[in-house]
Amino acid sequence: MSLYQKYRPQNWDSLYGQRFIREALSNALLENRTVGGYLFYGSRGTGKTTVARIFAKAVNCTSLKPDGSPCDECENCRAFLEGRMIDVVEIDAASNNGVDHIRDLIERSRFQPTVGRYKVYIVDEVHMLSRPAFNALLKTLEEPPEHVKFVLATTDVHKVPETIVSRTQRYDFRRISESDIAERLRFVAKKEGIEAEEWAVLRIAKLARWGLRDALTLFEQFVIGGKITQSYVENRLGLVGEEFLRELERAVALRDSQKIFELSSETLRRSDPMKFVDELLSYLRDRIVEVGVRSPEFPLLSDFFESVSAAYPRARMSPDPMFVIETTIAKVAFGPVARIAYDVAEVQSPSIKVSAGPRFSRAARAETGDGVSVKSEDRTSPTEIAAPPPETIEIPPVSEPPSVSVAELVSKLRETPRSAALVQALKNAPKSAFSDVSTFLVSAKNSFDSSVLSKPESRTLISECLQSLCGRPVSVKVETAS
Ligand SMILES: [Zn+2]
Repeated sequence: MSLYQKYRPQNWDSLYGQRFIREALSNALLENRTVGGYLFYGSRGTGKTTVARIFAKAVNCTSLKPDGSPCDECENCRAFLEGRMIDVVEIDAASNNGVDHIRDLIERSRFQPTVGRYKVYIVDEVHMLSRPAFNALLKTLEEPPEHVKFVLATTDVHKVPETIVSRTQRYDFRRISESDIAERLRFVAKKEGIEAEEWAVLRIAKLARWGLRDALTLFEQFVIGGKITQSYVENRLGLVGEEFLRELERAVALRDSQKIFELSSETLRRSDPMKFVDELLSYLRDRIVEVGVRSPEFPLLSDFFESVSAAYPRARMSPDPMFVIETTIAKVAFGPVARIAYDVAEVQSPSIKVSAGPRFSRAARAETGDGVSVKSEDRTSPTEIAAPPPETIEIPPVSEPPSVSVAELVSKLRETPRSAALVQALKNAPKSAFSDVSTFLVSAKNSFDSSVLSKPESRTLISECLQSLCGRPVSVKVETAS
């Protein structure tokens, strides 16, 4: 028996997600006002059949529990649990879609139930029924016998004729949240004595795309020797991994076209294109949640997410899906979305979260290597590079200026190409030091040096180097020594 079957909820209590449906149905059962026709609509794995079965068992239960759950002890419940409840019939319309089958079923529904109180017909994938079969069903739904309940389940409600829909009580099943799925996986793991790493649980919950059945099926496949480990899951799934995706985000943020195409071809080696898109979308979703809508990264990340989502169906239909994905990513990188380029590595620095403020990366400052002009307008005042707004800084307040020497700053600056003039101007300066805890003041030797140092890109670069040396945001001011 698969884990999904084994842990299929048997009562309202153990049903995950679908709280509204659970409450509506259990109340109707308790108040004895169930109807003859129900329509359950929702994507796969959201619990339609599970709810239909609990309902079928409950309407026949002779001693309902106070929460409307079947007792699992009365004769009818036991018959149901042991598969002897002949008054509950499940039909898969995908394989029995003909009018003869439905007519036969309706014919038999006229007879009183054999053991239970109601005959319950659960018709799965009801949208697959043929037109004449729907018509035959419609007549019965218009005036169902007192002792009959129909539960029609579908993943595609738009293919169910309106006449049928209007004669049923419709319930829309919501997709099950990742956290609900993860919770269920942890529960099953505990029951089964499986040691599951948390990363693997969350990854599987995500991959299942809101369906519990797929989640449990995947979960079962990944157990090796009573364990589920991150490395095994990554391997089996052919994932490119988070580090790789971070690098891709960085390349897009910095408009590094060479890197983007390098990473794309690497993707093909490591993963399947559509799998990669799934992984990328899930990564971007996490990043958007992480940075928040007011962050400087948000415009790019949301554009990235939307573009890749929109390309998904095209990629799937394309003979060369990776090409569709590659061009989509390139369009995001060089697209019209006005945004601030940023460096992901610094954004994700685990201990010091200072980089959420508006900063400019090297690539944003001037022309990129591809000759694409990038807006480098500084949003801050011309004389001062502002530190990030105070509310985004999550470091404890500091009272001492950082102890960074000019020599350290110079050697850091030299790591950047084309910084020679800047370095010279800085070395010429008779005085350059922190004037307070977050301001670095450079007194330029003369007006020429001052003009070199005052350029927005120079001050940004100095500010960035200082930040990486002292671990906090730094403003840079330039004055001419008199
Ligand atoms: Zn019972």
